[in-house]
Amino acid sequence: MDFSERKPAMMQLLQEMVETESPTYDKEAVDEMGAIVIREAKKLGAEIEIHPHKEFGDNIIARWGEGENGILLIGHIDTVFPLGTLEMQPFYEKYGKVFGPGTLDMKSGLVIMFTAVTALIERNEMPNRPITMLFNTDEEMGSYESRKLIEKEAKKHALALVFEPCEYLEGTLHTWRKGTGKFTIRVQGKSAHSGGAHKKGLNAIEELSHQIVKIQQLTDYEKGTTINIGAMHGGRAINIVPAYAEAEGDIRLTNLKEYVRVQNYICSLKSVKKEAFISVWCILNRPPMPFNELMENTFNKAKKIADAEGIEIHAGGSGSASDANFVAYLNIPVLDGLGTVGEGFHTEDEYFLLDSFISRAELAATLLRDW
Ligand SMILES: [Zn+2]
Repeated sequence: MDFSERKPAMMQLLQEMVETESPTYDKEAVDEMGAIVIREAKKLGAEIEIHPHKEFGDNIIARWGEGENGILLIGHIDTVFPLGTLEMQPFYEKYGKVFGPGTLDMKSGLVIMFTAVTALIERNEMPNRPITMLFNTDEEMGSYESRKLIEKEAKKHALALVFEPCEYLEGTLHTWRKGTGKFTIRVQGKSAHSGGAHKKGLNAIEELSHQIVKIQQLTDYEKGTTINIGAMHGGRAINIVPAYAEAEGDIRLTNLKEYVRVQNYICSLKSVKKEAFISVWCILNRPPMPFNELMENTFNKAKKIADAEGIEIHAGGSGSASDANFVAYLNIPVLDGLGTVGEGFHTEDEYFLLDSFISRAELAATLLRDW
């Protein structure tokens, strides 16, 4: 399948999507982005289901057919970029690279989903099985609200394809991903004047610092576990002994045992200064997605199909998690990283390679047709 003549239409839809900014926390903005997705799916004759949400944008499902053995395409329509980012970081193409907030993660992936189905319908090659698209709206904040919907839909399908970007320039798929967790540690001390009553105070920042050093050491590169205290707050002024301090951390892991080890440690922290009070909150967000037998079989099948069409794909992985992790955890075949290939996602330099826009749409259409 040659998709090069589809490039202008793909770029036009992408520009509209990128210029409709959709930060996760802004429901109104995300719903505007949702309206574009609904319009595109309706044009292709899909049945639309809207799953309303009060805080985040409404989740959307588009269906072509119902029944067994279907393929689920997953994409999120929110981005990490606040409203107004577009003014400093406009949508543009230069030297084969396409820039703009959310171009890579993952509005180009959404366009690929639509392009693949458009092409199959036009060529009269839609497969004889249900095709479903699921668009969620809180992925960049952990998909806590859309997880159930993703799981419910995944269970109804034989395969899930996730159109997150590919972070490597070689153009690999994500056949493994780390799991993620997060935690907060709060320390309550006692405030006092730093000059007049230093002894009476209990410095919460000092206590927290002891704890942070210990927690950071839970990192175990060999096992693929990393801990990152990424934010801390505490104190008001240098002449007050701080009564309160807190730190927030991120956990990445390749197996659930490691999460248990880290969680147990964090939940049983003992204060260095006896009178200090420590409270913790720790949660697993996305379970790890290992390169196990099921994943190997799924990838090999995809590779066979892609090879027959002359498309090269490779197996790869990522230290970051996505909604594919939820699907893999249910032992349902899933492939991720089917979006465009690029660099700098979540930054002002985010871009994707224009060539990959076309080749990935061809790959998606081929997988849908021949799976
Ligand atoms: Zn993403």
